[in-house]
Amino acid sequence: MPLPALTGLTPDVLAAWLKDAGEPSFRAGQILAWVWKKKVRSIDAMTNLPVALRAKLTDSFRLTALEHTHTRGSPDSTRKFLFRLHDGRYIETVLIPASPALYGERSDRRTLCVSSQVGCAFGCKFCASGLAGFSRNLDAAEIAGQVLAAEQLTGERVDSLVFMGMGEPLANLTNLLDAIQLITGEPTLHLGARHLTVSTSGLVPQIRLLADHPQQIRLAISLHGATDAVRQQIMPVHQKWPLADLFNALDFWNSKKSQQITLEYILIEGVNDAFEQATLLARHARRIHAKVNLIPYNTVQGLEWQRPPDSHCRAFRDVLQHAGVTATLRLEKGGDIDAACGQLRLQQESREGLLP
Ligand code: SF4
Repeated sequence: MPLPALTGLTPDVLAAWLKDAGEPSFRAGQILAWVWKKKVRSIDAMTNLPVALRAKLTDSFRLTALEHTHTRGSPDSTRKFLFRLHDGRYIETVLIPASPALYGERSDRRTLCVSSQVGCAFGCKFCASGLAGFSRNLDAAEIAGQVLAAEQLTGERVDSLVFMGMGEPLANLTNLLDAIQLITGEPTLHLGARHLTVSTSGLVPQIRLLADHPQQIRLAISLHGATDAVRQQIMPVHQKWPLADLFNALDFWNSKKSQQITLEYILIEGVNDAFEQATLLARHARRIHAKVNLIPYNTVQGLEWQRPPDSHCRAFRDVLQHAGVTATLRLEKGGDIDAACGQLRLQQESREGLLP
């Protein structure tokens, strides 16, 4: 096993390590500042630490868990970063500038789409990440490290995060919460919890657990069908938790959190784009005071569904808006750099013969 990464240590864990190493506790603040604020690229660059402590750190830790291998995109558009992990697997992270006002963010902000697992076990039918199955959970250093690395690589501050990259974040809840502590903590990245959105395919027990978490994190649901019959064609997770169970959990969420839920709905021609679905979707959204993001299907190599015509997508949105629901039709960004989740990583792993 590789050495643990410094970027995975919460302040408490780092303080405990320093105590065991016979070092004064104030060193924790210095080390965290070097890692998260000054974003150094080596332990040796932590110049206000004694040489002996730097040597101990080097013997015990790697600085980061991620090795950046590729960037696609241009500085003024969506950029996709590919990172290699210690076991040779890859994850991807997407920086979306000038994000439309999807998650309560202003339009001049930068949103980072973060991965939470290598592969995914949930097999949503529109998604490239599920194509090669599930490999493993990411640990806190690998999740939070994506934010640090994106800021290092671009020199820009990330304003908001969506846990909407590869993997189902709520299937990796313990590591996700550790990473959220690193992302939101004052000594570490210090990004406000209300700028974090966890997107889930609908894991009911974990939605309830996250609702009980004290921070005001936002929630997005991959809904994609307004009836059980339609949703189960797209989302295998639906077999376990049908709509009634899901919406009960969302009622519970609303009883605990003040942030508005987002319902994600990918429009797929002939599958879920009938106007009856729009009417029922509006009814669900109104009942739980949610807003709706409509996303025209993005063609994925290896999958057969089609995107509806733009005029139909607009008409679907209009049904929702006329029913009084806040609904956005997402202008796609990054289609030219394989923005559908999981595609870049799938291409790289298949080139290297890593896929089963
Ligand atoms: S959409 Fe999310 S939960 Fe569904 S298969 Fe893709 S990564 Fe997994």
